[in-house]
Amino acid sequence: MKTAVVIGGGVSGLAAAHYLGKKSNFAKILVLEASSRLGGWLQSIHHPDGSVQELGPRSIRPAGRAGQNTLELVEELNLADQVLWVRAQNRYLYVNGEKCALPNSLGALVKAQKPFSRSFLSYIMKEVFQKRSDEEDESIYDFMERRMGKEMACYAFDPLCRGIFAGDIRHLSMRSCFPELYKLEKHYGSIVKGFLFSPKDKSQITSKLVKKARLERWSTYSFRRGVLQLVNALEESLRQTKGTEIHTDAPCSKLHFTSDGKLVVSVNGEEVKADHVFSSIYAKNLSQILSKDHSSFTSDLRKIPAVNVVVVCVEIAEKLNLIESGFGHLLPSSEDRKVLGVVYDSCVFPQHDRQDIPSSRFTVMMGGAWYEELKGMSDQELQELAISSLFTQMGISGTVSKVKVTLMKECIPQYLVGHHQLLERIFTYIQDRNLPLSLVGSSYRGPSINDCINNARIEVERISKLYC
Ligand SMILES: Cc1cc2nc3c(=O)[nH]c(=O)nc-3n(C[C@H](O)[C@H](O)[C@H](O)COP(=O)(O)OP(=O)(O)OC[C@H]3O[C@@H](n4cnc5c(N)ncnc54)[C@H](O)[C@@H]3O)c2cc1C
Repeated sequence: MKTAVVIGGGVSGLAAAHYLGKKSNFAKILVLEASSRLGGWLQSIHHPDGSVQELGPRSIRPAGRAGQNTLELVEELNLADQVLWVRAQNRYLYVNGEKCALPNSLGALVKAQKPFSRSFLSYIMKEVFQKRSDEEDESIYDFMERRMGKEMACYAFDPLCRGIFAGDIRHLSMRSCFPELYKLEKHYGSIVKGFLFSPKDKSQITSKLVKKARLERWSTYSFRRGVLQLVNALEESLRQTKGTEIHTDAPCSKLHFTSDGKLVVSVNGEEVKADHVFSSIYAKNLSQILSKDHSSFTSDLRKIPAVNVVVVCVEIAEKLNLIESGFGHLLPSSEDRKVLGVVYDSCVFPQHDRQDIPSSRFTVMMGGAWYEELKGMSDQELQELAISSLFTQMGISGTVSKVKVTLMKECIPQYLVGHHQLLERIFTYIQDRNLPLSLVGSSYRGPSINDCINNARIEVERISKLYC
């Protein structure tokens, strides 16, 4: 009887356990979660007034192969009727003290729009004629400045990456953060040419939900009870899967490899022998529980840093009629390093607003790669900074009826230039020694919920073939 242990009960760990239960030959699957709750960074808080507050991720994108995979999972878990979705909404930049809409139509592509001095079309045309680089990897800033010019790097990709990775494009790796775009340049000499000439995915779509999302042109989605509903559904399904056990308050404190090719997991003073372990925890945390005789491996794991993000959820006690409604706005680092951006939660999912009185909800994201500038501030000071930034940037005022400041420590791993070399060394180490260990989770190949679920599926499918 083969046993698989999954370390970590975040979305990656639960997805790994889900696919293991469906596709593998492991008769016993143990999920070990250190804290008393499942979900990791997914934290949807329900208030008695009916409102849902998201402290971590708040929406999932249906696009791409990984997005499709999550929708298939949503359908499989019978969550389709719980989905809340929206079409593309306006997105803004906050530059030089004003909000600038990003182009959202073909017409807008041909006009120069603030803060850009030229039209988007002219940057696109410039890109087509740039020479391909021979660099193995470079920063997102260097890549974008080279291909599209400084304005696109500073005003488009700088804020975008602050929104996705809470990171600095001067250090983040183009190859690891945007692998698809990186490959298009390598294969077609240009991103635009790559988009035009790369073969389109013609695979048959069987999922009804994927078809529905395409037909209705979903841009992003969540669930009636927030993103945590996905975790709850995964948990419910796992608890009904024969041979699967979920243990919370079960921190894995040590992992050591035995001479007979197994792994021993220490948890709460007990030892569990596993045929295979799936670690879904942050790489640095994994390095801390691995035995000392793997020093080069643990040293590489420690080289993947992660940033702290301060999330401030603010509720105003009135329905504000926003002049610029939409998904939210992002700030380039040249504008304000500390504040990354603001999500207009009530515009995106008004269903999550409180039911008793009219209200408007926002989330201010701060810190990330610039967290040092917030270090030492009290919760009260962080709250004041978030509210004053929100009021100034939105041009609003009002009575704050709810506010919650959450410091998320080391929550978004940073794929710095050269990340692919680190991964190569890490995965070669495992492969060369035939270690019964799989690495899933946001530290390696994409931090979005879609990446986490899809990468867990891919790894389980690969490993299942070895244990058949
Ligand atoms: C503020 C914020 C906003 C985000 N917004 C979005 C968004 O809108 N859309 C999107 O797609 N993505 C978003 N993301 C990214 C996404 O939420 C995360 O990358 C993803 O949730 C990571 O999941 P994970 O399971 O890999 O890791 P985690 O969520 O970190 O889960 C790991 C789990 O392992 C447990 N653990 C740690 N050590 C041990 C141990 N020794 N033994 C046992 N258990 C252990 C932890 O307690 C945790 O529960 C956001 C992230 C943050 C932080």
